[in-house]
Amino acid sequence: MDLLPVYLNIKGEKCLLVGGSDIAVRNASILLEAGAKVGIVAQQRNESFDLLSGWKYVAERFEPEQLDGVMLVVAAADDLSVNKQIAREAKQRHIPVYVVDMPDLSTFTIPTTLDRAFQHPPLNTAGTSPEINDAIANKTRNPSEPSAKARLFEMLEHPQEKTSGEVYLVGAGPGDPDLLTFRALRLMQKADVVVYDNLVAKPILEMTRRDAKRIFVGKSRGDHTMAQESINDLLVRLAQEGHHVLRLKGGDPFIFGRGGEEIEQLSEHKIPFQVVPGITAASGVSAYAGIPLTHRDHAQSCVFVTGHLKDGSMDLEWDSLANPKQTIVVYMGLHGLETLCSRLMEHGLPGSTPAAIVQQGTTQNQRVMCGTLATLPAIAEIKKFKAPTLIIVGGVVSLREKLAWFEPVSPDMAVSLEEPDRSSEKVMAFNQT
Ligand code: SAH
Repeated sequence: MDLLPVYLNIKGEKCLLVGGSDIAVRNASILLEAGAKVGIVAQQRNESFDLLSGWKYVAERFEPEQLDGVMLVVAAADDLSVNKQIAREAKQRHIPVYVVDMPDLSTFTIPTTLDRAFQHPPLNTAGTSPEINDAIANKTRNPSEPSAKARLFEMLEHPQEKTSGEVYLVGAGPGDPDLLTFRALRLMQKADVVVYDNLVAKPILEMTRRDAKRIFVGKSRGDHTMAQESINDLLVRLAQEGHHVLRLKGGDPFIFGRGGEEIEQLSEHKIPFQVVPGITAASGVSAYAGIPLTHRDHAQSCVFVTGHLKDGSMDLEWDSLANPKQTIVVYMGLHGLETLCSRLMEHGLPGSTPAAIVQQGTTQNQRVMCGTLATLPAIAEIKKFKAPTLIIVGGVVSLREKLAWFEPVSPDMAVSLEEPDRSSEKVMAFNQT
């Protein structure tokens, strides 16, 4: 189909959307984002519509009169004959119509924006889902590979051809979207289902394919939205259904991320997967806090430990940890901070050892406080630090005084440290699976 690329101003204009599926919801949200007044015709109410605002429920069934005064129509009904009828009626009235994934019935398409955060141009895929087979992408990196071109043409001719499912276990880094890897971004644009948890920052989630289904699976301390076993099973099931599943995790998937367990199960089921490393909190957060993890004068080694409390105690090798020439980075350490600092002092580290706490590092809400092993627990409490926080212990912390460089653009926001309310997304997650 030869198409004329245009940008349409639909602010305040009436648009009609027919359909109640997740794809319909995605399209409704795109229209609403562009400022349209959206009328929805749907037989079954998809609860995900409740997460959007600015739309009006019109009716259960499509009737041609619903097109009166409408600027454009998106048809995503389950029933092909309904979609055909909508296309016919709209065309008769010269109203642009997009029938999702059916370019032949459409007079326009809604392009997938490759990456809104970086203002990339829309990608025209002539109305079909935009995805380029990874094998091809890998081959095209080698210019002497002739088969990639041939396969690409073959796929463009048969875009509906089903490929087998696979899972991408991708590290999303500590929060700043600029810290994603190119590979992560490429797979985020490819996957049609996104399974993500708490630590994945919203702006990063927004960079996944907009028509992808998003499934929130938890978890924050004490609130295990979905048990690990269920997540493992979910990944297997989605891949078996033929989906390209993005398992998006904060930081690096192999560092306190239980990524190993998830791919173990995939491997048992012979499901193809790949792992994309992410910048782990220790390196991202320390960099943005101006605290080098090693330094010739202060630390010759650096260890990452979990400060997670089990039955009120912390199961760590205290003797080897309490080494004055070593930096200790503690993940999940806020709750057990008091215990952590006391144990380290009991095992020989001076109470004056510098220690820092960093909340939501690398993001515009980053907060950093420095103290010592003796004072940090009180500082964290008085200053009301909340997860996610990273604790850094050792002489290197004193370098921050000179090396701090990152200033969140909106320091005022730093006081609103509530975790994003995702309760409604949880509901959506369960409805969709
Ligand atoms: N796989 C992740 C870690 C998951 S454990 C990684 O590699 O980073 C979750 C813990 O990571 C949090 O409790 C917190 O200690 C730490 N964390 C992750 N992102 C953080 C951030 N932006 N700021 C501070 N701590 C963070």
